Amino acid sequence: MSYDYSRLTHPSIQTLTPYVPGKSITSLQRELGLQRVIKLASNENPLGASAQALEAARNALTESYLYPESSGHELTQALSQFVNVTPSQITLGNGSDSIFSLIAQAYANPGDDIIMFQYGFAMYAIIAHTVQANPLMIPMTNWQYDVAALLDKITERTKIIFIANPNNPTGSWLKDDELEYLLANIPETVLCVLDEAYYEFMDDVAYPNSLQALQRYPNLIITRTFSKAYGLAGLRVGYSISHPDIAATLNRARLPFAVNSIGLAAAQAALADQAHLKQTLKITAQGLKQLTAALDQLNLKYIPIAGNFVTIEIGDNALKVYETLLQQGIIIRPLTNYDLPHMLRVSVGLPEQNTAFINALTSIINQ
Ligand SMILES: *Cc1c(COP(=O)(O)O)cnc(C)c1O
Repeated sequence: MSYDYSRLTHPSIQTLTPYVPGKSITSLQRELGLQRVIKLASNENPLGASAQALEAARNALTESYLYPESSGHELTQALSQFVNVTPSQITLGNGSDSIFSLIAQAYANPGDDIIMFQYGFAMYAIIAHTVQANPLMIPMTNWQYDVAALLDKITERTKIIFIANPNNPTGSWLKDDELEYLLANIPETVLCVLDEAYYEFMDDVAYPNSLQALQRYPNLIITRTFSKAYGLAGLRVGYSISHPDIAATLNRARLPFAVNSIGLAAAQAALADQAHLKQTLKITAQGLKQLTAALDQLNLKYIPIAGNFVTIEIGDNALKVYETLLQQGIIIRPLTNYDLPHMLRVSVGLPEQNTAFINALTSIINQ
């Protein structure tokens, strides 16, 4: 009999429900022996990374026997110019997920409350558990953020608020006046993390200029990522923009080499290639039109769109539909882990990938 090591595990880790990622192309190929697989499951860029970013990544490979520069100096400089803040306000991380984790480690004590919305991005609750804080969920109505309900839940125990703007998977987002109202009414001792993983896709005039808000509310932390619109999900590069004191704290708490040298080089080149970003936004807008037109035809409802994905109300057979699509080599995302078992989320793909998804879904629905 060997020792049961799970007994050594911290109870908050023992009981947490791990993150459920989108199924990978290689795992579906392995399981079903399929050649051609289309993945529309993780809101990745269907165009892939910018050619310039790939070239920078290849060039960086030759130096990969060397440790990266710990501070990520060049990328930090480039980002600070791009968003027009000082370099001392930027913190780099291995994806924005690692920055959420860093914020919780640096600021939350066991027993503190970390506030988030119901159906909010799944990592927030997981991270709260890892630091033995309580994830407090604010209910959503009609997929909308209820700022008043959130403010009601703030107590002396509240340490951090996580809000995805817009949210994955529900596309919920705070308009500028709602963000302003929220920030004006939370104590300055409560940190508000605004996760802008999809901000590049937002063209609504009411979408808040969070960088301006940061000048007035130093308890605001904005996070952004190279994983979605910039097409570098596999390289894991994210960053936050905050008050310099907060950035200094996060940099103190982080691991020494937050981003690998290939990620640093690729992200810097990706940032410089705004033409690729523009092309991405164009193909995303077209793809969303293509997908929603087809869903309208099929009489399927979907949550109002913000970002590069569509969350569809399928019904009781949603999981069955998901499985049948898998059999045909199309991976989308079930939302059971979000307590939305009747819904499926599909990421925008290339026109022909969208067509393949639509055709497969149509034949499944009409069966
Ligand atoms: C994808 C996603 C992230 C994670 O981004 P990484 O930078 O790849 O860690 C964060 N927030 C939301 C809402 C996302 O959908």
